[in-house]
Amino acid sequence: MTRAYNFCAGPAALPTDVLQQAQQEMADWHDKGLSIMEMSHRSKEFVAVAEQAEQDLRELMQVPDNYKVLFMQGGASSQFSMVPMNLLRGQAKADYILTGQWSKKAIAEAKRYCDVHLAASTDFASAPTQAELELSADAAYVHYCPNETIGGVRFDYIPETGAVPLVADYSSAILSEPLDVSRFGMIYAGAQKNIGPAGLCVVIVRDDLLGQALPGTPAMFDYQTAANNGSMYNTPPTYSWYLAGLVFQWLKAQGGVEAIGEVNRRKAAKLYAFIDGNDFYANPVALANRSIMNVPFTLADDSLDAAFLQQSEQAGLLNLAGHRSVGGMRASIYNAVPEAAVDALIDFMGDFARRHG
Ligand code: PMP
Repeated sequence: MTRAYNFCAGPAALPTDVLQQAQQEMADWHDKGLSIMEMSHRSKEFVAVAEQAEQDLRELMQVPDNYKVLFMQGGASSQFSMVPMNLLRGQAKADYILTGQWSKKAIAEAKRYCDVHLAASTDFASAPTQAELELSADAAYVHYCPNETIGGVRFDYIPETGAVPLVADYSSAILSEPLDVSRFGMIYAGAQKNIGPAGLCVVIVRDDLLGQALPGTPAMFDYQTAANNGSMYNTPPTYSWYLAGLVFQWLKAQGGVEAIGEVNRRKAAKLYAFIDGNDFYANPVALANRSIMNVPFTLADDSLDAAFLQQSEQAGLLNLAGHRSVGGMRASIYNAVPEAAVDALIDFMGDFARRHG
């Protein structure tokens, strides 16, 4: 088996150990004579798998007891609507911070439900400081994206929002380093980066925010429905849930978020140091706000982009093209991308620059 180094922004690299375990268990899960995806989601076997996954995630993130962990569907994009539907709680206004393409999409969707007040907006290459936030006292919540996947922009602090619940789209940075969940009213994250395959979206929401959905909210979009039914009001994507559970176990075996956070910071630091030290490459993001998960970069001559992508692929370095909306390159270096992948990328980039610079 040869596994290339995969820098895809999502669906992203999964740990090889996890894939091998899933392969081994594929046709006959734990001597039951069937695969996990052929089992009833209500069977005691699957319910145990699902509950273990939740337990492991709670442990990894040290989720306080007064938060529900929900395994939802519809991707992070559905949360752009479910957040206002569930969290406006009779109020008319919400604060949003605009730092990139994903917070922009969240804002566009929220405008269908409430007055959106922009607490801050940037050029998509930096995050506002706490002092720059213009928060409304009468906002139902404050929404932001702590790690903008496309721009590679990361908040280097958790906004202080007083009594107003803070809501974070953590899709591309969840589980990448330790996080104080108690600072948030709600966290959500599409699975296909640091959690598992696409199909799941994890929602972590404080109990007191539940049960006040907008009239007319579909049962499937009401967090209370999911909370009351162990996230199994309907048939959940069982295989994705099972695989997410394997990823959580893998992460625990790596030493949890603290240990992986150290590796992640080291991976990012060496890649940025290389980019900054080489005139052929550039990253436009403010130093304090550089993502440790998504590293966009440009070549000094963009007519070489196609050659860079072709040669990197030949070298076993996959999916380095930037998002279609911005072009350039992007290396997503999530938890399952080993440090050796970053080392190989840096070697390739140095070699490419020497040959073409
Ligand atoms: N938010 C962020 C920060 C993302 O990176 C993405 C996907 N790349 C989304 C939302 C949308 O996620 P999905 O495709 O699961 O709806």
